[in-house]
Amino acid sequence: MKKLALHWQILLGMAAGVIFALILTNFSWGSEFVNDWIKPFGTIFINALKLIAVPLILGSLIKGISDLKDISKLSKMGTKTIGIYIGTTIIAVLIGLTMVNLIKPGNAITQETQQDLITSYEGDASSKIADAEKQKEAGPLQALEDLVPDNIFAAAGDNANMLQVIFFAIFFGIGLILIPEKTAKPVKDFFDGFNEVILKMIDLIMLAAPYGVFALLAALVVESPSSDLFAALAMYGITVLIGLALMIGVYILLVWVFTKNKPSFFINGIAPAQLLAFSTSSSAATLPVTMERVEEHMGVHQEVTSFVLPIGATINMDGTSLYQAIAAVFIAQAFGMDLSIGAQLGIIATATLASIGSAAVPGAGMVMLVIVLAQAGIPEAGLALIFAVDRPLDMCRTVVNVTGDAAVSLMVAKSVDKMGPPNVKEWDDEYHPKNIPAEEKA
Ligand code: ASP
Repeated sequence: MKKLALHWQILLGMAAGVIFALILTNFSWGSEFVNDWIKPFGTIFINALKLIAVPLILGSLIKGISDLKDISKLSKMGTKTIGIYIGTTIIAVLIGLTMVNLIKPGNAITQETQQDLITSYEGDASSKIADAEKQKEAGPLQALEDLVPDNIFAAAGDNANMLQVIFFAIFFGIGLILIPEKTAKPVKDFFDGFNEVILKMIDLIMLAAPYGVFALLAALVVESPSSDLFAALAMYGITVLIGLALMIGVYILLVWVFTKNKPSFFINGIAPAQLLAFSTSSSAATLPVTMERVEEHMGVHQEVTSFVLPIGATINMDGTSLYQAIAAVFIAQAFGMDLSIGAQLGIIATATLASIGSAAVPGAGMVMLVIVLAQAGIPEAGLALIFAVDRPLDMCRTVVNVTGDAAVSLMVAKSVDKMGPPNVKEWDDEYHPKNIPAEEKA
């Protein structure tokens, strides 16, 4: 029997998890059973993925940069990458603002529902506000200061410090390019091998993906709040979902126009990473799979993926910025505030920066939303309004975050001529794909 493609296996796992949990919630012992006996497997799966993130960044970025052979290539690729990332994030915020101004979901919230939501989620919201307070107290250059770790082991010891690990890896890679080739060779060989081992470990973890997502979704279903609250926020949720869907459309179009690859090529290539992003709500946990898909299934050279994707996972969050723009205006609408054009323009800047500052973990976008609200003068208590539906929307925005990283890496690869046909396994020294079937070469 032909083996089912990975994305179908993952989808089946997700659907089975939801159905299983829905059946079990009918029994008094059901939720406890899922929490005690199913959820731990989901946690183990996410942990295994996160476990790979730091070694993967170190291995692949050092290998990728040292492969570049000269620094000017790095700065060329770096400028393009950051430029396109910021460009797509601004497009996302603009789509968000347009949708929320057109649909006006906040006007559908009655005074009564507003009070209900605020009393139900006041406590949860205040812990997010407290988290954000810490960030707000920081000076304007704090982000730059945080980029440079004072101890690489301490930095690598915390997944939240991914940008610091990226900084070290780039710095190390540059050092490796600058020393004589003979001395550099053993170090480079080590990282080449190290990197292969990590990629193999990802393959092994992915064998468990269908079971991992089964456990994750089953646990989510038994933990989700009542459907009444969802209904009250339906218009807001739909607005975010339409915005996110449009953003996926933008990526497909960009990939099509810039790389001449058909939508089906892009979607089939990235689908397993999208499903994993949906199940884990974390771009960081999905990173290993995003890299594998873009490299091995879409033909982007490792030199590009190893640089563009880890940076993208931490700073490029188009789904998050789109959601922050919609959530901010929605809360203002629900409180009966009329936001001026000036305030909405301010949201473009703050949502772009807040999404860059959001960590690639579940719920991070909501913490940074506090900063967008504060800047626009919208009551922070409004966070309690949207709490009930944040997790499902987080799952969806993470899909967009990951898709955006993949789309940009394809565009950067095309622009620096590092893109081969799909399923390239080997490249020669000039970065030409080695294993193209004869008919494609002709
Ligand atoms: N969960 C998102 C991510 O990891 C961040 C967010 O909360 O928006 O990409």
